[in-house]
Amino acid sequence: SNGLLAGKRGLIMGLANDKSIAWGIAKACADQGAELAFSYQGEALKKRVEPLMATIGSTVIHECDVGNPASLDALFAHIGEVWGHLDFVVHAIGFSDKNELRGRYVDTTSANFAMTMDISVYSFTAVCQRAEKMMGPGGSLLTLTYFGAEKVMPHYNVMGVAKAALEASVMYLAEDLGKDGIRVNAISAGPIKTLAASGIGDFRYIMKWNELNSPLRRNVTQEEVGKAALYLLSDLGSGTTGEVLHVDAGYHVVGMKAVDAPDI
Ligand code: NAD
Repeated sequence: SNGLLAGKRGLIMGLANDKSIAWGIAKACADQGAELAFSYQGEALKKRVEPLMATIGSTVIHECDVGNPASLDALFAHIGEVWGHLDFVVHAIGFSDKNELRGRYVDTTSANFAMTMDISVYSFTAVCQRAEKMMGPGGSLLTLTYFGAEKVMPHYNVMGVAKAALEASVMYLAEDLGKDGIRVNAISAGPIKTLAASGIGDFRYIMKWNELNSPLRRNVTQEEVGKAALYLLSDLGSGTTGEVLHVDAGYHVVGMKAVDAPDI
């Protein structure tokens, strides 16, 4: 087949439904000729992932709870058996107790802090550990982050602290794996209505704020995150590693929005 990812094999982690950012990325990759495998968390999601995969001709699927090292080992053992080699991985996974995605950050519990860091931060490092063994030069690893890592956003709380750690881990992973020609990057996506996002307090307000105040005066789509992912996953991004690429309609550059009306 033709395309930016023709002949490449990639693993997509974090597909829950057709609203998932993972699905926007998967569709873009499949359109550009990639062969894709999917991991899912738990039997309930398998029923959602299988019909979506079928629409893009993917057949490789395996369960994986990233909080369980044995589950990660089993996933990568399966990919090793069916493919042997891996060109890219997309990690579109994050989790925190939704009771702590409202109210005050200062009230975060030790147990949820540790769990949020394990699932939302360490799991990407754990994936890189296993994936690098199956990758050669040109390999590419990608995770998803949010502006709440850089500045305080309402209700993002412990997840903002976790995303800051995730972005720092991207730098260290890029240095470690760069010696083998493997690149590690993140996309900082603007707010998109997904299952995970619905757990964040006042998410509709955050989306509206972004729409009104971003340079493009709108929100971004899963498809736009998918297009940016193509750059980082394909040879187009061969000179880019350790990067956090914002796909947020420009929101991250705004200090104070200009008044649109000319006579005010
Ligand atoms: P989503 O709910 O569609 O996807 C989240 C995925 O994480 C689900 O597939 C879920 O099964 C998976 N997951 C959670 N815990 C897991 C575990 N222990 N093991 C394996 N998988 C697990 O939501 P999404 O918004 O597409 O989220 C994908 C990524 O994008 C997350 O890292 C999220 O923080 C990030 N992100 C989202 C937005 C947004 O506004 N939606 C913005 C920026 C970044």
